[in-house]
Amino acid sequence: MKKNILDLTREELEQEVKPAFRAKQIYQWIYQKGAKSFEEMTNLPKAMRTELDEKFTIATPKILKVEQSRDGSKKYLLGLADGHTVESVLLPMKPEVRDNEGNIVKEAKYTVCVSSQVGCKVGCAFCLTAKGGFVRNLTPGEIVGQVLAIKEDNHIPANRRVNIVYMGMGEPLDNLENVAKAVKIFSDDHGLSISPRRQTISTSGLAPKIKKLGEMNLGVLLAISLHAVDDVLRQQLMPINKAYNIEAIMQAVRQFPIDQRKRVMFEYLVIKDVNDDLKAAKKLVKLLHGIKAKVNLIYFNPYPGSPFERPDEESVKRFQRYLLDHGILCTVRESKGLDISAACGQLREKSNACAI
Ligand code: SAH
Ligand code: SF4
Repeated sequence: MKKNILDLTREELEQEVKPAFRAKQIYQWIYQKGAKSFEEMTNLPKAMRTELDEKFTIATPKILKVEQSRDGSKKYLLGLADGHTVESVLLPMKPEVRDNEGNIVKEAKYTVCVSSQVGCKVGCAFCLTAKGGFVRNLTPGEIVGQVLAIKEDNHIPANRRVNIVYMGMGEPLDNLENVAKAVKIFSDDHGLSISPRRQTISTSGLAPKIKKLGEMNLGVLLAISLHAVDDVLRQQLMPINKAYNIEAIMQAVRQFPIDQRKRVMFEYLVIKDVNDDLKAAKKLVKLLHGIKAKVNLIYFNPYPGSPFERPDEESVKRFQRYLLDHGILCTVRESKGLDISAACGQLREKSNACAI
């Protein structure tokens, strides 16, 4: 069977094609010029192109469904080669700026939220991805391919950088090896050239893997899905907390190498009457003491049959105000597009339901 060339880091590709500079050229074709076939790679010898074609495919996932939200974010259901599906989201961060003559003076900025697994083993009580259980890890090429497919669908030039967040379906640190390869492929200077500082890995708190990720020194940013400040509640929401409690996570975070100018992000899913009180905010302030942190409050996004409710705007604002007043950087993620299936797993779930 042919291998997907998107699975290979440039170093790995250099083992396959000689001399090594050919790997750079192939990378440039795929990632900077958007080549879809080896035939197009006209600066490679004909024989090499034929050989590559016999050995490799350039396989990106198939777009099965798109939901566009009023705020501009777009959620994709993507089909993988074996028929499984994952979700990715394109989030416009800043619109393009034009001068009086209509020339673009600043390019639009985008973030792509990618999935790292089909399903997830962690089993958080609030998360729809968890409901379907775990199916399999994504390969590095399947992670990278999500970005290629979405950029192409939105006519974002192949050489334009986007930010990456590993916040789609799955637990990235449960698939660390492939995710680390994806980080390298994304950041390669001859490819998409997306610096690791533009890539954020979000985890439910696999403490030993946070340590391992730190030791890999990839330079990526870290986001912790905290969601609760005491172990009893966190355990109810996230069973993983039994294995690695809040203190274990905080210890791993304290040791994590982080760029001087950057911060560790703590995601806090606000759930009505569960964790939206000021007592929790107070405890959070204490917990983050001495850590270069920023908090991102996320509205819980309900789905049919979900055991929790969306919090009131007032309680989220109050929570945010408390953190800000106590010197903690805090943003609120307007559940990007309430009018689309915003949280991870929701588009996939809906499609499965349609298929029945
Ligand atoms: N497994 C990793 C990354 C993927 S989940 C992690 O848990 O960090 C990405 C984010 O989506 C997490 O912060 C998760 O809490 C959030 N999420 C899950 N279900 C949600 C829901 N129903 N509404 C809003 N956010 C949700
Ligand atoms: Fe997995 Fe993250 Fe969903 Fe928890 S929130 S079940 S870790 S994808």
